[in-house]
Amino acid sequence: MTGITDSGPLTCDACGETVDPADAIRRETMGDLDPTTWQTLCCPTCGGRLKTVYVGDE
Ligand SMILES: [Zn+2]
Repeated sequence: MTGITDSGPLTCDACGETVDPADAIRRETMGDLDPTTWQTLCCPTCGGRLKTVYVGDE
């Protein structure tokens, strides 16, 4: 399993910002996924969802 910061910069579809995964805002996922193993990375500029990531190995 690759870590969050191994994926490289993410691009926000909403505002076009390039976001380093380490700078992204982490939120609980919208679905019924376990929040201790899955988190949503959100854009620090506009708050848009960037990616849902597995964090169970952290
Ligand atoms: Zn954004």
